[in-house]
Order: sequence, then C-alpha cells, then structure tokens
Amino acid sequence: MAPSGRGVSRTRIRELLEAHDLGPSRALGQNFLCDQGMVDKIVRLAGVGTDDHVLEIGPGLGSLTEGLCATGARVVAVEIDRHLIPALTDQVGHHEESGRLTIINADVRELDWPSVLGDHRWAVVANLPYNIATPLILDLLAEQPQLERWVVMVQREAGERLVSDPGSRTYGIPSVLLAYWADARIVGSVPAELFLPKPNVESVLVEIRRRPGAADAPDYEFALLSRLVRTAFGQRRKMLRKSLAGMADGDQLETAGIDPTRRPEELGLEHWLRLTATVADEASGRT
Ligand code: SAM
Repeated sequence: MAPSGRGVSRTRIRELLEAHDLGPSRALGQNFLCDQGMVDKIVRLAGVGTDDHVLEIGPGLGSLTEGLCATGARVVAVEIDRHLIPALTDQVGHHEESGRLTIINADVRELDWPSVLGDHRWAVVANLPYNIATPLILDLLAEQPQLERWVVMVQREAGERLVSDPGSRTYGIPSVLLAYWADARIVGSVPAELFLPKPNVESVLVEIRRRPGAADAPDYEFALLSRLVRTAFGQRRKMLRKSLAGMADGDQLETAGIDPTRRPEELGLEHWLRLTATVADEASGRT
C-alpha cells in the first residue's frame, strides 16, 4: 500500500486494518486515534520541532507518528505488536526512509535504554496503552532522567490521580510519586468517539515536566519515600501513627512537623520529604 501522507482518518485506519487483516487487540490496549484535529492538538501541546528527539510509546497505526514526524523532529517509535509493524510501515515508512523515524518492535518496558536515548534529552509524546500507563510513567520518571517533558494520553481517572493535590479524593500514591520527580497538569480531554474501536472510558492529555535537579537526590531517598507513601496509603483511612507503625513512630512524625493523627491524603510532598529525611537520619544515627 502506498504511503498516504494524508494524515489520519477513520477511513484510513479501517483501510489499514483491512489491508493487513488486523483486528485491534484489547489486551494491548489498541484504540486507534482517528481524528486529525486531535493529532494536531497533541503535537501543538507537545511543542516539538526540528531540533527535538521524541519518543513515541505504542505508535499503533501511526496516527500520532505522522504528525510528530511532520514537525521535523527525530522520532523513535516503540511498538510491542509485531503484527502491526507492516501496517505502521505503510503509513509512516517514508519517514524511516528519510532517516527521521526509527521504528522499534519491542516492549517499552524492556528497551535497551542507553542505546535508544544516547546522550540526548527527550520528549515523550504518546497515546499510552491504558493498562500499563501509570506504572510505566512512574518507572520511567524514576529510571530515565533524559525523558524530560511529556504529553501523554491516559484514561481520565488515571490522569486525575497523577495530577491531584493533597485533600482531593483522587490524591494517592501516583500523585505523590509523580510530584517527587515532576510537575504535571491536565491539558486537554479526548472524547471516546475519536477512537476506533471506541473505548469505554474518557481520556485526558497530561503534560509532565521533570523538575531540574530531581534526579540529583541519593537513590535511597526516593526508595524510602516510596515505601512510606505506599505503606500509609495502604491504610488510607487510618491515622499515620497507626498506618506507619513499625516504620515511623509518633515522635518521628512530630520531628518532621506532622501531626500523627493526620491521614496520608492530607500530606503534601514537602511533608513526605521531611518524614523521609527524619526516618533516614534516625536510621543512620544522625539524630
Ligand atoms: N498511538 C496509536 C494511536 O494513537 O492511534 C495507538 C495507541 S493504542 C492506545 C496503544 C498502543 O501501544 C498499541 O499500538 C499497542 O500495541 C501498544 N503497546 C501496548 N503495550 C505496549 C508495550 N508494552 N510496549 C510498546 N507498545 C505497547
């Protein structure tokens, strides 16, 4: 099939699926974006251009890939499903030939990261597979500091949990762990009607910007903070002195400036950081 160069549409996605005898895989979260206006919006929000390196996770049938390559950016697209690769190549292979695009058939969770990232700084722009989106974002923020700015599409509930502030119903483990590395906000909604097949959920676009210096702290800090947060939110309704028993006692909470009768959803990142420092200092005998 000749490269379309026409961008994306419902007809084009159907055409690609039929020509390659493909059916969308539910297990791999395959809902293909069919709306050129939304592709343009995502590319605009990502603000990428000729000098940028862009990682696209899950290019699918190339809806977003085409828009990203059209900016002149250097794009690496990582797609797990080998059955999709010929259709993806039909849609965007001409950018591979011009050296602008590299398609990698792999599970993004098992990439050889140093060879992919080199020594560049990267933007991540992706319509993420919903079933792995939150852990993937959190793992990559913790492990790949070169991934600096992101515009990603996720399920609305997941997006709200990632960007929530203390006190909110949706504030929880992902909110604190993301806030450790980055600032995040919801920058758009994506109606289910814009996909083929139509998902049962609404989607949002989340912008994530890594905070300079976030990766400079010693590794133990994030590991300990993460354990404290996961333990406390594991018993969300309990007071911290109960839920954290065995990890941090009432005195340690007070030393960190935290009322031991508070609950985890009331604590902002600065509280978790102070508690982490207090527990770490006592463990190393510094207080
Ligand atoms: N970007 C396309 C679009 O917007 O139409 C497809 C998005 S679809 C929601 C998610 C894509 O991620 C699918 O193509 C799926 O095969 C791919 N995918 C799922 N799990 C993956 C993984 N672990 N690594 C890489 N790609 C994955």
